[in-house]
Amino acid sequence: MSTPQHLVLVVHDPEGHATGLLPAEPEAPQLSVLDASATRGDGVFETISIGSGHPQALDAHLDRFARSARMLDLPEPDPGVWADAVHAIAERLAGHDEAWVKTVLSRGVEGGTTPTGWAYGSVSPDFRRERTEGVTVALLDRGLRSDAAETSPWLLAGAKTLSYAVNKAAVREAQRRGADDAVFVSTDGLLLEGPTSTLVLLHDGALLTPPATLGILPGTTQHDLFAAAGDWGLEARVEVLRPEQLRSAQAAWLVSSLRLAAPVRAVDGAPTAVDAGLTAAMNGALRARRA
Ligand code: PLP
Repeated sequence: MSTPQHLVLVVHDPEGHATGLLPAEPEAPQLSVLDASATRGDGVFETISIGSGHPQALDAHLDRFARSARMLDLPEPDPGVWADAVHAIAERLAGHDEAWVKTVLSRGVEGGTTPTGWAYGSVSPDFRRERTEGVTVALLDRGLRSDAAETSPWLLAGAKTLSYAVNKAAVREAQRRGADDAVFVSTDGLLLEGPTSTLVLLHDGALLTPPATLGILPGTTQHDLFAAAGDWGLEARVEVLRPEQLRSAQAAWLVSSLRLAAPVRAVDGAPTAVDAGLTAAMNGALRARRA
């Protein structure tokens, strides 16, 4: 992700209510070394794509921000204040086709009760290669059963927490195995998600994705693609999927807010089918969204 160009602080009171926005200098120090975001990764975030100044799927991102906060017993983020924060940054990025804004809410300085919040953003990297040539993936055992979210909610499976060190480690492991990216599999053999993306398959005229109840993040990009599936004459279903279905799919994608739909072109070194036409249509529809 590129260097932030714009930053606003989302100021909170000790009761956890957002009290307003404060424009701030991204190059200047802003965070206490005792902030729980830094010391424990104890907080939540969202990454929202901005197309020519327009946040995409903003309500869905703010809903998911609140869902993650609830899973961590953090104060409920005020959607109006956070939307203002995102728009304040987005407006300053209006001259760019593709940019991003990240919202962050942490438990705050250790020992206190005031959460720390901020939103920052910049221009997106160029994802044209991934969107057209695709990505190769390695299947990695996540080490969690598919019912872990239900049996062990304290593992925060499916929350978008600041602790993404595991997700980053998974991508490095996939790269050590010669792939670009990873797809997690549960210990009981079900397909889950990528470390920063949702898995979507095309099978027999239907777009398929695994259910969020398996402890995966409900994807905003996948949601918007499923809403548009009818435009391409496709059904869309959420269902439990196995690795054989990824290998035999008519096409598969890793989808996420910034990279959008990246076709999967190999799984563990074995080539898989790519649908270039549908991929281009998907990315066109995703880029044309407005908040
Ligand atoms: N799954 C995980 C673990 C993610 O981190 C992300 C996005 O960063 C996604 C799925 C895709 O979500 P979205 O499409 O809302 O960006």
